[in-house]
Amino acid sequence: MTRAGVVYHAPLTAAADAATVGGRAVRLVEAVLRDLDPPPGLPLAYHLQDHNRSRAEEQFLGWTVPVLDRLRERGHALATLPPLAGPSPDAVGVPLQDAAVPFASLSRDAHAAPGLLIGLRLGCHPRSGLAGAVRATALACASAEGKRALQQGVQPRIERAVCGGCGMCVSLCGNDGVRHNGHVAAIRPETCLACGDCLAECHTGALKFPEGGGDALQARLGAYAAAVVRGKPRRGVWLAFLLGEPQRRAVNLARAAALPDLGVLAAADPVALDFAAAALLDGAAGPGWVAACCPDREPGADPLLAVREAARLGAGSGEAPAIVTVG
Ligand code: SF4
Ligand code: SF4
Repeated sequence: MTRAGVVYHAPLTAAADAATVGGRAVRLVEAVLRDLDPPPGLPLAYHLQDHNRSRAEEQFLGWTVPVLDRLRERGHALATLPPLAGPSPDAVGVPLQDAAVPFASLSRDAHAAPGLLIGLRLGCHPRSGLAGAVRATALACASAEGKRALQQGVQPRIERAVCGGCGMCVSLCGNDGVRHNGHVAAIRPETCLACGDCLAECHTGALKFPEGGGDALQARLGAYAAAVVRGKPRRGVWLAFLLGEPQRRAVNLARAAALPDLGVLAAADPVALDFAAAALLDGAAGPGWVAACCPDREPGADPLLAVREAARLGAGSGEAPAIVTVG
């Protein structure tokens, strides 16, 4: 039986070792797959945020190998999606009605895959509110031109007269989103994901987000996630990590509060996962915490706008998913 709205939660803290995190992640994935009951060998296209990016984050990376091994043991064919900032030359246009964009430009591999495995570190994004499963799905499955369309108007800008040319932003960016000519830095619109991490490192204040645009970005993210998920009756597995310390790199760390240590969530429904994560975060840190945790958003902006938009467009279930604790 498919229970798309159920979210599984394994409480853990950042002090847990990699083996413990990996073991819980495998149990959660198996719980989701029991519900989904996918055909044997269902091919899964996967994107695991930060996979192979930073070997220092052993705790986060510790889960990827056991999860992939377990899925292979179950006979699932696994194919990796391109990294977030990498090229995805084959694009497929998926029409959308009554959405922020008339069509979503998806990578052919993501569009054609019968199922998905998306792993992410959930956080609060300075421009797009809750950076959860909906956002990760949109970014992981968009084509290169789709990624550019998603980020339009929200990438940071560099005031050349203020830039001291230190190159810190270039060193920090893991997406090749900014280049440096020896004197000043310049954003690369074709690769910058508008994550905002470099803003926290710029000591001169040359890097700034443009005013506005967060709601438009969220609406586009929700539409893209819907375009991805609606084409997959079997959906897949979304796995989100809310483990305090490693999370902090995923957000605009200088100004954002550290996320509470909540553990790991898994679901066959990215919308349900994000609503569950928001409820758990507000439950642990106090009502309104999610709304307040993204310091650069416009005042009063809805941090769950992308999630609500994805739900409205048929990407998942409603706002109050069942949360099942797995020990
Ligand atoms: S961190 Fe700031 S000052 Fe340094 S190169 Fe980047 S934009 Fe310029
Ligand atoms: S916002 Fe900065 S750190 Fe983030 S992708 Fe763009 S250039 Fe890189």
